[in-house]
Amino acid sequence: MMTRIQTVAVIGSGTMGAGIAEVAASHGHQVLLYDISAAAVSRGVDGIRRRLESRVARGKLTAATCETMLARLIPVTDIDSLAAADLVIEAASERLEIKQALFSQLAEICQPHTLLTSNTSSISITAIAASVSHPERVAGLHFFNPAPVMKLVEVVSGLATSEAVVEQLCNLAMSWGKQPVRCQSTPGFIVNRVARPFYSEAWRALEEQVAAPEVIDAALRGGGGFPMGPLELTDLIGQDVNFAVTCSVFNAFWQERRFLPSLVQQELVMAGRLGKKSGHGVYDWRTERAPAEVVGAVSASYGPVKIEKISDGVTELDDVLLIETQGETAQVLALRTGRAVVVVDRMEGDVAIVAAADSNPRSATQKAIYYLQQQGKNVLHIADYPGLLVWRTVAMIVNEALDTLQKGVATEQDIDTAMRLGVNYPCGPLAWGERLGWQRLLILLENLQRHYGEERYRPCSLLRQRALLESGYES
Ligand code: NAD
Repeated sequence: MMTRIQTVAVIGSGTMGAGIAEVAASHGHQVLLYDISAAAVSRGVDGIRRRLESRVARGKLTAATCETMLARLIPVTDIDSLAAADLVIEAASERLEIKQALFSQLAEICQPHTLLTSNTSSISITAIAASVSHPERVAGLHFFNPAPVMKLVEVVSGLATSEAVVEQLCNLAMSWGKQPVRCQSTPGFIVNRVARPFYSEAWRALEEQVAAPEVIDAALRGGGGFPMGPLELTDLIGQDVNFAVTCSVFNAFWQERRFLPSLVQQELVMAGRLGKKSGHGVYDWRTERAPAEVVGAVSASYGPVKIEKISDGVTELDDVLLIETQGETAQVLALRTGRAVVVVDRMEGDVAIVAAADSNPRSATQKAIYYLQQQGKNVLHIADYPGLLVWRTVAMIVNEALDTLQKGVATEQDIDTAMRLGVNYPCGPLAWGERLGWQRLLILLENLQRHYGEERYRPCSLLRQRALLESGYES
């Protein structure tokens, strides 16, 4: 089945619908924008007009092009008007009963060749398609917010979706300047699933009082290379929205412990502290935020006399061991080695996150910090926490990406593309895993699992396979 796509219908003229309508109109399509009331459609069209006019004012768009694009938008409130559409993109409120009712109506109204898609973030495409005749033409077309700006589109197949439809939607997305990735209809698709540990590990660190929010965010930015820290990002997304996605993924996976929602985040939501939009979330957005507290310059009197690299990731500074974390606490390592131990997180850029064994003499910890400061690092000192902040979070993201790959949700390349373009990760998680070393990640997760005795840190079997192959290559 090959549908020539000229007229596009967009259902729902809220945040996403209006953005998607703008994208379609800017690529030459006539767009039928439908919502439940004339007032709702007008709000959507007015928003598009304001955005386009501001681009004209900034010299990014000519007034003539702006007018042409606006003329392509046809506001409608009668669903029968959607009969003329070759492609429908549904972006109505996120409720299964609303979507199923809409899709059964569309199946009656539209021509049999019309492609029927949903921008849902969390509802099964298979379930939406169940009430539709010719369900092979139903797919997910998951744009990211703001739709005119974000490059990624997840093209989601339900159980019945045909390959030809997926192919056509991918080509269409590319012709709209987007980067499509293909995935199967599973909870969270790619991005909303693989990104969960980025948030949940930050909430856990907060719950265990490992560090202040500013420090957790600075660690992931400076040490992990993420454009934004996880906690500040949830404040921008909205705590209610982010919490709802986590709960939806958790429940859809039958309460899988890896996705367990955070009580701290639930408290924020219940308090109405929804983040930037309410003025207060993790942070108070009405006042200037204090920067993360960096350890002050340590006196040169602590400078180590003898520095020796014992092995990859272990440096001896006189009597102190500075060890890059493998998921054990500094205290466990100090007891095992009988030495003073400082563990350090993954070091990228100018940030070093450290934790010290409680049994260390103060001078031993100072020695390690002095050494790192001499290397130009801003040192963030946190509580003794297994896997620290960056290594642990990245290991969990890589593990989730591997599980997603193993379950056949998407290809390796599409998973990496989705995470780079959908949430701006500095590197696709599978390429990252390859670079960091599968064995290293496996050991880290095994240590975390042992430490907590929790399923949450269970390494997925593909990680075990890759670690095994990696060690085979090395021996
Ligand atoms: P929104 O609340 O801004 O807009 C929803 C619109 O749908 C409203 O204008 C509402 O009047 C309309 N609507 C409700 N029932 C309808 C019906 N029966 N027929 C026609 N219109 C109806 O919501 P949103 O944030 O734009 O989300 C829309 C969809 O996009 C959801 O499925 C959501 O999961 C998904 N999504 C949202 C985001 C995001 O960041 N907001 C990102 C990706 C996907």
